[in-house]
Amino acid sequence: GRIPVPDRQSTATHCPYCALQCGTHLRHSDGVTTVQPSDFPTNQGGLCTKGWTAPSLLDTASRLRSPLVRGPDGELAPSDWDTALDVVSDRIARIRDEHGPDAVGVFGGGGLTNEKAYLLGKFARVALGTSQIDYNGRFCMSSAAVAGTAAFGVDRGLPFPVTDLGQAETILLAGANPAETMPPLMRHLSRAKLIVIDPRRTRTAESAALHLQPVPGTDLALALGLLHLTVTEGLLDKDYLAERTTGFEDAWERALSWWPERVERVTGVPVAEQREAVHMLGAAERAYVLTGRGAEQHSKGTDTVAAFIDLALALGLPGREGSGYGCLTGQSNGQGGRELGQKADQLPGYRSITDPEARARIAEVWGVAPEALPGPGRSAYELFDALGTAGGPRALLVFDSNPAVSAPRSDRVTERLASLDLLVVADFVPSETAQLADVVLPVTQWAEEEGTMTNLEGRVLRRRRLLSPPPEVRSDLDILHGLAVRLGEPGHRFPTEPREVFAELRRATMGGKADYSGITYDRLDAGEALHWPCPLLPESRAPHPGTPRLFLDRFAHPDGRARFAAVDHRAPAETTDDAYPLYATTGRVLAQYQTGAQTRRVPELNEAVPEPFVEIHPDTAERAGLRHDDRAAVISARGRTVARVRLDGSLRTDTVFLPFHFPGDGRANLITNTVLDPQSKMPEFKVCAVRIEPISEP
Ligand code: SF4
Repeated sequence: GRIPVPDRQSTATHCPYCALQCGTHLRHSDGVTTVQPSDFPTNQGGLCTKGWTAPSLLDTASRLRSPLVRGPDGELAPSDWDTALDVVSDRIARIRDEHGPDAVGVFGGGGLTNEKAYLLGKFARVALGTSQIDYNGRFCMSSAAVAGTAAFGVDRGLPFPVTDLGQAETILLAGANPAETMPPLMRHLSRAKLIVIDPRRTRTAESAALHLQPVPGTDLALALGLLHLTVTEGLLDKDYLAERTTGFEDAWERALSWWPERVERVTGVPVAEQREAVHMLGAAERAYVLTGRGAEQHSKGTDTVAAFIDLALALGLPGREGSGYGCLTGQSNGQGGRELGQKADQLPGYRSITDPEARARIAEVWGVAPEALPGPGRSAYELFDALGTAGGPRALLVFDSNPAVSAPRSDRVTERLASLDLLVVADFVPSETAQLADVVLPVTQWAEEEGTMTNLEGRVLRRRRLLSPPPEVRSDLDILHGLAVRLGEPGHRFPTEPREVFAELRRATMGGKADYSGITYDRLDAGEALHWPCPLLPESRAPHPGTPRLFLDRFAHPDGRARFAAVDHRAPAETTDDAYPLYATTGRVLAQYQTGAQTRRVPELNEAVPEPFVEIHPDTAERAGLRHDDRAAVISARGRTVARVRLDGSLRTDTVFLPFHFPGDGRANLITNTVLDPQSKMPEFKVCAVRIEPISEP
């Protein structure tokens, strides 16, 4: 790899991976970049193995170092920037002229800085004039975003600082495994009694006081059962209900029939454990209900999260200091990514793209007519499924995402990507999606750029530059500027300086739900802890201190009350039968992140978990003729993936588990179901029906 050139000797910044955004000190000396954890509140001096090894991403041997353009021979070949950007803009212009603006799509990522996410949304709507933009957060916490907005009027992953969790006596974790996905979070949970809901006995479940192990796809029934017991065991907070909520009666009407024995029949969770869970929550002075991907990645993910929020409301937790409900957002900037305009249905400031007032406000900031702004576009999977089809996009620009591995039916998505007239990928490594591209644009990464990120508690953080990027590598902001100008936009509309973009972003979010207008780089650099909303106040007043805790006085609905949701259980889209007798569920491991495009390139991480595996109960394995370490095919109605067998006696005998971090024929998403949650458009990653068979070693 190259020897990185330091801009300075050291800097304070944050880990590039997950939404905990652990604070770090980066140092460069004698040609080596090293990282040390800082005592930032979310990590308090801790880091996980991904954070410790992050510097090796900076000079990974497979780093993209110049633009690549696919030539007539079908091969990607190095090019210069002018040629690459000319190729992209010429082809976009041609496709747009022939098929209209919606023939060009954009797909963003939850790892982009706030500045990049904002400018990408503006680029799509203004420079391309397309409605076809979405981002990979759709596959992450979109169900919690919909349910949280419906309940509280606004969704912020944690509407309180992470450190508040340290005071809790009981914490219910529904479908979250932070001991592997964000280990430093566990130090905030160590004083609480944990109740973990997960079909697997994860590392988090091992540390829990109580582990409820439902059949995959039945979490909603379990949440309704816990609400039922909260009422029948006399734990309902009636004063809170009367003062701060509406809609309990309708929710109760649905939960009424979910008596404990019925819940046990459907979920497999014994009545005694259900009862113990509600009493642990009900007896606590301070308690939290937290959801993760396990509750959210279902065709009924929104309703499942809504049912857990109902449970928290029934216990009187949200909006009380030291108690509450929250969603553990996964990606580094999943929070900022979803509120700054990358989503198909959103404009910056967490504004709806169909709201006339919001459209007028954003159009004014962008200097265009409101009617020139496109309407809502397709959600992530709908977008991929439409690529190259009649009426679907014929070109796609992908920033910071790897849908060839992360999307359900990834074989079909790969075919669709390959069928496009133009696929452009901006990334710093040759991801599986980049390998399919017509043009690959090499971009800067975390320690080579300035900007801001918004972590899982809605706190805006500074990402700082330590090193110069390799000479032929550019920021995504430069790329958007270069393309916009070639497409006829005035250059000043697409600034390349992060500070300048942030200044515009502040104006765009002013008055929105996620208001950043009072936040400046200078305030962040001075060490202020600024959680949105943080509105700009008149100069005569002291600056707004930000809002670490939302909802203490009122929820964000016009009447100030939280809304119960009336939801009912339904089976997963696919249930087991003779042909596919097992449930497959997918998830993550400590040593890998997302599709592994980055972490598979870090030697220590790759050695820890180098290949796809499938966890299976020994009895189930024996019935299938499988032993530990065998290679197995896991087959669903849609496809087949190959993985190494890991026996795990703590797993349910009806369930197998596969991590989704691996490419090729080991992609877990070759078997997952494309059915979508009707509200959030989240695919059902967490449950599909499969069988498992031995295969001979190659
Ligand atoms: Fe990085 Fe998340 Fe690990 Fe912290 S927990 S070091 S932010 S990956």
